[in-house]
Amino acid sequence: MQAGKDPMGSAIADYHATGKAARLRVFSPMFDEDEIPVATLFRRFDEMPAIEQEALRTASGAILDVGAGAGCHSLALQAMEKRVTAIDISPLAVETMRERGVKKVIEQDFFTLEGHYDTILMLMNGIGIVGTLRRLPDFFLQVDRLLAPGGQLLCDSSDICYIFEDEDGIIDLTGIEGYYGELTYQMQYKSVKGEAFPWLFIDPETLREQALAHGFHCDIIARGEHYDYLARLTRRC
Ligand code: SAH
Repeated sequence: MQAGKDPMGSAIADYHATGKAARLRVFSPMFDEDEIPVATLFRRFDEMPAIEQEALRTASGAILDVGAGAGCHSLALQAMEKRVTAIDISPLAVETMRERGVKKVIEQDFFTLEGHYDTILMLMNGIGIVGTLRRLPDFFLQVDRLLAPGGQLLCDSSDICYIFEDEDGIIDLTGIEGYYGELTYQMQYKSVKGEAFPWLFIDPETLREQALAHGFHCDIIARGEHYDYLARLTRRC
């Protein structure tokens, strides 16, 4: 990924270098303009949501931190004396993680990675990188290739049905074209504007169904404060 097309990496590198950052703006046809507070990408263990803390406690063996960003989870795992490899597609994120002390960092697309891991960790809606439900078969194939025998995938996501709630608190999903968790995002940091990309939020029932159809058990091991949850997927023997 080129730096000129990598708003999130630019924001991460800026914050790392200066201790502050401009607005990391997020556009989606579904929402008004929003922003990601860049400091949250640098959160410490005690600042993380409970479901992320639970995921870090549950992670074991050789751990792969997918879409590791500024490396907050990898650094927390290293502090817990766990073995972790961070992977990110953004060269600026990767450089930042190396400078921050993440020992093993790979700059690569998750979908082309090779190797074997006991825990694949995908946090902050990490499964979002799958983009669409249509790409889930590819994703499960790749998870199956990467997971060592007895391995686990830990991922969090949110059931974003709440964005369709009307003034009476009624959620009506009829009439929505396609799956309601398939969003399109575009980001901008200063003058760096990235390409639009698909980003998937998946509800726990759909994740469980899809996991079963592709050879995995799916347990919801924690629920967050607002429709978010942590799932643990393991191979069906
Ligand atoms: N997990 C981190 C960062 C989340 S932001 C945290 O919780 O703070 C998502 C990250 O995923 C970005 O750094 C982005 O560069 C990375 N990413 C997106 N698609 C990817 C892919 N296909 N393979 C690896 N990393 C990817």
